[in-house]
Amino acid sequence: MSKYIFVTGGVVSSVGKGISVASIGKILKSRGISVSVQKLDPYLNVDPGTMSPYQHGEVFVTKDGAETDLDLGHYERFIGVELTQASNVTSGQVYSSVIAQERRGDFLGGTIQVVPHVTNEIKSRIRKVAEISKADLVIVEVGGTVGDIEGQPFLEAIRQMRKDEGRDNVLYVHVTFLPHIAATDELKTKPTQHSVNELRRIGIQPDVILCRSDKEISEGIKDKISLFCDVDKEAVISLVTSETIYEVPLLLEDAGLGEFIVSRLGLKVGKSNLEEWRDMVDRLKAPKELVIIGLVGKYVELRDAYYSVREALCHAALAHNREVKIEWLDSGELDGMADDKLGQVQGIIVPGGFGYRGIEGMVKGAKFAREKEMPYLGLCLGMQIMVIEFGRHVFHTDKVNSTEFDVSSAYPVIDLLPDQQGVEQKGGTMRLGTYPCHLVAGTTAARAYGTEVVYERHRHRYEFNNHFRQPLEEAGLVASGLSPDGRLVEITELRDHPWMLACQFHPEFKSRPDSPHPLFSGFIGAAKETLVEGAQTSLPLN
Ligand code: GLN
Repeated sequence: MSKYIFVTGGVVSSVGKGISVASIGKILKSRGISVSVQKLDPYLNVDPGTMSPYQHGEVFVTKDGAETDLDLGHYERFIGVELTQASNVTSGQVYSSVIAQERRGDFLGGTIQVVPHVTNEIKSRIRKVAEISKADLVIVEVGGTVGDIEGQPFLEAIRQMRKDEGRDNVLYVHVTFLPHIAATDELKTKPTQHSVNELRRIGIQPDVILCRSDKEISEGIKDKISLFCDVDKEAVISLVTSETIYEVPLLLEDAGLGEFIVSRLGLKVGKSNLEEWRDMVDRLKAPKELVIIGLVGKYVELRDAYYSVREALCHAALAHNREVKIEWLDSGELDGMADDKLGQVQGIIVPGGFGYRGIEGMVKGAKFAREKEMPYLGLCLGMQIMVIEFGRHVFHTDKVNSTEFDVSSAYPVIDLLPDQQGVEQKGGTMRLGTYPCHLVAGTTAARAYGTEVVYERHRHRYEFNNHFRQPLEEAGLVASGLSPDGRLVEITELRDHPWMLACQFHPEFKSRPDSPHPLFSGFIGAAKETLVEGAQTSLPLN
């Protein structure tokens, strides 16, 4: 039988609840128990797939093709698990399912209510993760903060879980924020007290309080929170802002959280083993030479939109004993910009994206990389951009395009497949999730992976148009990764270029801090050799 940890947030959002959940998973898994994770999102969208990155940040894609919250990326990277659709539940999914049951007549004429029908649906979805994963421990994060109107059914459901599953099998963690008042140089506990009161009003008494703050919290403050919130002092844990997110599991472990949870839940575990992780964090924090990567995208002012790409670059750089410095280049501006910005980086990456805006700036980035022999990595849209740019070069016309951006293009090098035409619905109509890809021997892709078949995650509608494959291949484009039937081009690279490669899938989702993705590693390996005149790649002396 699985045990459960429920994690709620108080005071304000964006204080690292997702990282805390991932870190708790890490420290418990390091004791040899199996862990699974779930995120409950109170918004009414069915999934974040159709939400703008401005609203939501990155959409993280699981192996089974679910479009999920970016917190699932933290869970996978920290805990080293692969999650599924069941790990992200939204109010939209819960209500759709309850209403569908009502339409079918499943409730036999009863009145359908939030309690018990909606809460039962939520509880059954929580238990489903335990059933599918058979994990010893399921950690469930409730999105938003306590007091949000739409979060109420979720809090009521997790409250009921303690009674349903047995008091020794359920633990509540509350993540709060302690504001720092500069004038008096003190951290304030009052917002935490209020948010714990709000939780108690619903009937949840937290067992652990994680106090996020920019400064270490004193014993006196721990005493105060322990007293007012009725939580053991050893369970009032300081979560001080750290240099890297990967340090958080170590902070929590060293503060005794692992031991506390294990004894409270009566988990049978081995000794904690975080040595390799600790070593990785030490290497991450040590000063290193820089590698400067230009990321050309249209959401660059909102860095959460490229969260996994950013992390994958960081992991790969670490493997090369470098620290990555990302130059965020707005593709909307790049169009009219001189080449000098591109000339200041050692490699160019074009990540995924949708819609016309910024495309020409991305094409410009790809053109620069091709002409200047600068390393280039294209991810999904970034592959389509590479093909469009190369097509324009080969066919000597700007009319080369994707039908996503120009429906009547005379050279639609990227297009919908014949069986995809006529798709009108926007949600859930993409090629999603893991597909196999066969690598062509002797190519950069095959060398980077060092294997013949790879499995990568997709999220796109458009594909390489095979009609143009022969002329483009003759001109030097190599289709180095193909679907098993050879019909879909999954990786392209340039024959006459040191390292210009792009993939139709999203390798960033499979990168881990302790095992970087081969394509990112290959890209950074090539980029670090690029000499940039006048650029500061060594660390500033201070
Ligand atoms: N817009 C492109 C498509 O739908 C690329 C998608 C992406 O980059 N994820 O195919």
